Amino acid sequence: MQTRFSSEQLLDPQVAASEAVIRKCVHCGFCTATCPTYVLLGDELDSPRGRIYLMKEMLEQEQEPTAEVVRHVDRCLSCLSCMTTCPSGVNYMHLVDHARAYIEARYRRPWHDRLTRAMLARILPFPGRMRIALRVARLARWMRPVLLRVPALRPFGEMLSLAPARVPAPVAARGAAAVGLNKGRVVVLQGCAEGVLRPEIRAATVRLLTRAGYDVDFATGEGCCGSLTWHLGRADEGLAAARRNVATWREEIDRGLAAIVVTASGCGTTIKDYGHMLRDDPDHAADAARVSALAVDVCELLAESGLPAAGGAPSLRVAYQSPCSMQHGQKLRREPLDLLAAAGFNVCEPVDAHLCCGSAGTYNLLQPEIAGQLGDRKAATLEALAPDVIATGNVGCATQIAARTGVPVLHTVELLDWATGGPKPEHLMKPEENH
Ligand code: SF4
Ligand code: SF4
Repeated sequence: MQTRFSSEQLLDPQVAASEAVIRKCVHCGFCTATCPTYVLLGDELDSPRGRIYLMKEMLEQEQEPTAEVVRHVDRCLSCLSCMTTCPSGVNYMHLVDHARAYIEARYRRPWHDRLTRAMLARILPFPGRMRIALRVARLARWMRPVLLRVPALRPFGEMLSLAPARVPAPVAARGAAAVGLNKGRVVVLQGCAEGVLRPEIRAATVRLLTRAGYDVDFATGEGCCGSLTWHLGRADEGLAAARRNVATWREEIDRGLAAIVVTASGCGTTIKDYGHMLRDDPDHAADAARVSALAVDVCELLAESGLPAAGGAPSLRVAYQSPCSMQHGQKLRREPLDLLAAAGFNVCEPVDAHLCCGSAGTYNLLQPEIAGQLGDRKAATLEALAPDVIATGNVGCATQIAARTGVPVLHTVELLDWATGGPKPEHLMKPEENH
């Protein structure tokens, strides 16, 4: 795409990076067919190509963002399906991240939108606050129908819908030593939402990795990866989270580290991008690049190093839902499927496996209508496979799908742990087995 940024504009490294992305786009439109919002809404401006054009005009003309541009950029899930499809290597992720920050700095949203976004940014990245919010949400569940009827308050109604009926008690993160052959030391990201909603994922990861031969540690001082605020356009908060984690993991790397293991693929995509996010920060750029190079999804590491010996998986039909951040963000397509099959499960995938489930970080709260349609569609395609269990690799997807199906939804590591000697996952137990 031809651009007309001035040489003065291009002195800004962020503008220069976006200009390079835009120039790669050749308008071919291949990406439109695999964009969930275009598939649902059929509007060119809700396709990657249309959004690239809108963002180009906004950045090039240094326009104040208009309500129309904001609406179409906000509707983007950042699912990155367009990046998988694009034959020209357009890095849509970096462009939309820039556009979101540009909009956040210049556009005054309606009061309810500002309130919702501020609440999400101040609660979700902090496990203690999130736990309290979920408990309050449980008590406030009776308000849900009222909130869902008022458009300005609908995100709060959606929060109540997604809040689990039971908030698990906090579980301290405890490392453990490798069993048998030692393949090195890894640090597992503690994250924010996953540890609050599904602490059993972390426990299964520790058991599985130690049996796979890794010493597992948790780093003191790390926090949310920053993706929640980064994707809300709150660039300073996202970068602050990235810097804090890089500083923490720098010490771990200096002590010798085989990998930084991530169990939520949304966080993994962001951590693998720290090198880009902090590239112009002289104090953190080099360490951020080291962190990004060491970050791996738990399935990526296991695919490389091998599963512990399988103890004979129960003969279950597992429908695997690949999170967008896994398949498009990190380009990990086969790894989880192959691991589940190697562990002895009967694995299948739904039609349109490339399409987002609508979770997308905070998207299901901020864009509930589109997210709801995508979630219903995903749940229906998974249920059509008649699975015993649904597996996925991101707690946001698990929550989004579990709200729409009676089939148990687990993280891949819970099944792999079970099949290789770990306990039966809690979500598969009958009530009487839970006591
Ligand atoms: S990131 Fe997803 S929703 Fe956004 S333009 Fe690309 S394919 Fe469409
Ligand atoms: S597929 Fe790539 S090059 Fe083609 S329109 Fe989409 S982003 Fe542009």
